[in-house]
Amino acid sequence: MPAKLIMGTEVREKILEEITAEVAQIKKKHGVVPGLVTILVGQNPASISYVTLKVQTAHRVGFKEVQDSQSEKISEKELLALIDKYNKDDTINGILVQLPLPKHIDEKKVLNAIDPDKDVDGFHPVNVGRLMIGGKEVKYPPCTPAGIQELIVRSGVETSGAEVVVVGRSNIVGKPIANMMLQKGPGANSTVTVVHTRTKNMDLHCKRADILIVAAGVPGLVKPEWIKPGACVIDVGVNRVGEKVSEKTGKKIAILKGDVDFDAAKEIAGWITPVPGGVGPMTITMLMKNTLKSLKFKLGIA
Ligand code: NAD
Repeated sequence: MPAKLIMGTEVREKILEEITAEVAQIKKKHGVVPGLVTILVGQNPASISYVTLKVQTAHRVGFKEVQDSQSEKISEKELLALIDKYNKDDTINGILVQLPLPKHIDEKKVLNAIDPDKDVDGFHPVNVGRLMIGGKEVKYPPCTPAGIQELIVRSGVETSGAEVVVVGRSNIVGKPIANMMLQKGPGANSTVTVVHTRTKNMDLHCKRADILIVAAGVPGLVKPEWIKPGACVIDVGVNRVGEKVSEKTGKKIAILKGDVDFDAAKEIAGWITPVPGGVGPMTITMLMKNTLKSLKFKLGIA
């Protein structure tokens, strides 16, 4: 029997509705709404489209959104001063610096200058530490891993005692999701294995997985025979494998493929995320959730 599809596009709608309702309630009771600033440096087309999507989503859920576009000639000192300004701004709960930054700016220095309590991307070392400790320490789980966990939980997949295998050990997906799934608590309590480029017999590890999370960036890396029948397969990979003409707009668009051989895998897995439409839509959604959380922490209602 083919796997149940886990549609991030549908889960996104549900979560955004929940956020919109909560924002309206907070506005009524406390007279404030979450404030998010997106800082864009330069004119990188991909960055512009990501920022545009974040701005549109923030407006949709009723946030105050400040889009701060800066010239690519801005100095590191000026950018750090800008972040300091937003760190001190009481109406701003989340600060997002769109990456990549121009080469003359030290990205790490800039990200580390964000107040950890406004770091809604969850990349500041303080928030990475909080995530490692787990439980109530966690303020802002990084958005893509948080989206993955949300998809698993909302699909009703049992995580407690489950064998979770994560393919990939990046700081933005592999390491944090592995860490989140092994924590004590709901949506976690799993036994976690992380496999990577130096792992021997990757197939044997994957075959044990009740929940297989793949974030390698290699199209079709995971073969159908590596999947345990009935497993939950979360494909994080987004790989451009060609171009096609959009039926809707007539414009050229990228053909995207995941890290899993989807057509064959869906005949074996119990649940599976498609690419696109699976994990992708969750990242910005969780950014909104983190920004709302930031205001709730400030109001003492989180
Ligand atoms: P990355 O390149 O930083 O890390 C990839 C990891 O996979 C590395 O740890 C590497 O060791 C491992 N890896 C690579 N090839 C492998 C192989 N052949 N066998 C075993 N392990 C291998 O990538 P990332 O930032 O973690 O992203 C991974 C994928 O997820 C990419 O396709 C990226 O586009 C996608 N992604 C999607 C979203 C989203 O949908 N919102 C967000 C982030 C990343």
